[in-house]
Amino acid sequence: MQGSGNDSTFPCLFMQHVTPDKIYHVTVMPCYDKKLEASRPDFFNQEQQTRDVDCVVTTGEVFKLLEEEGVSLSELEPAPLDGLYSSVSTQEPTSHRGGGSGGYLEHVFRHAARELFGIHVDEVTYRPLRNKDFQEVTLESEGRVLLHFAVAYGFRNIQNLVQKLKRGRCPYHYVEVMACPSGCLNGGGQLKAPDTSSKELLQHVERLYSMVRTEEPEDVPGVQELYRDWLHGEGSEQASCLLHTSYHAVEKASSGHSIRW
Ligand code: SF4
Repeated sequence: MQGSGNDSTFPCLFMQHVTPDKIYHVTVMPCYDKKLEASRPDFFNQEQQTRDVDCVVTTGEVFKLLEEEGVSLSELEPAPLDGLYSSVSTQEPTSHRGGGSGGYLEHVFRHAARELFGIHVDEVTYRPLRNKDFQEVTLESEGRVLLHFAVAYGFRNIQNLVQKLKRGRCPYHYVEVMACPSGCLNGGGQLKAPDTSSKELLQHVERLYSMVRTEEPEDVPGVQELYRDWLHGEGSEQASCLLHTSYHAVEKASSGHSIRW
């Protein structure tokens, strides 16, 4: 459960036995666009008359708030992580495989290789095309391409991808598209680099991110607990309803542009 920033309300509801309208849900995101996303009608709970996410602040804004309060992050003692799940160790943060933008391509790729072709993929290898933000991943067997995936990050590469689609020359089964070059780690809401180049800062962030221990989502005890105890198992109607969302075109009049954060 990650990525959209609007998908993590329900464990709080169930596990702390409070209704959504009694929760003020704040997410910290690398991105200003998440504010608009949270304001979409898709994420308004009609039944409870409340939003799934009440407030989105960017990492840069958190840093600024701390600065205004005279708090320096480097001087703070690490605090234990707050855990929603009884079986999960709260001492160490963990991440997913597949980069800093959610890792969906890698997860879908491995899953598809296993389920469709019975092939176990350990390391996913990216082949850069025009630049490091447009890369391909293939699964081949006996000279045949079984899966053909790509990542296209940044509008320049997205434009190229759209051109391919328009010309009917898009060979991919799946494309991970992200608006920011280098993905979310380079999001517009991230901290700015004051005394180092933004490229160096990004490389530093990528290095730190790659050091976080990774886990397969299905192996995380909290995820198993969630499915077992709260969602009536994988593939259940409840899981489908609560974990999936859909997007609809935003009408101008109800756009989030007028919302003050
Ligand atoms: S790629 Fe950029 S715009 Fe897209 S979600 Fe990540 S930070 Fe936001």
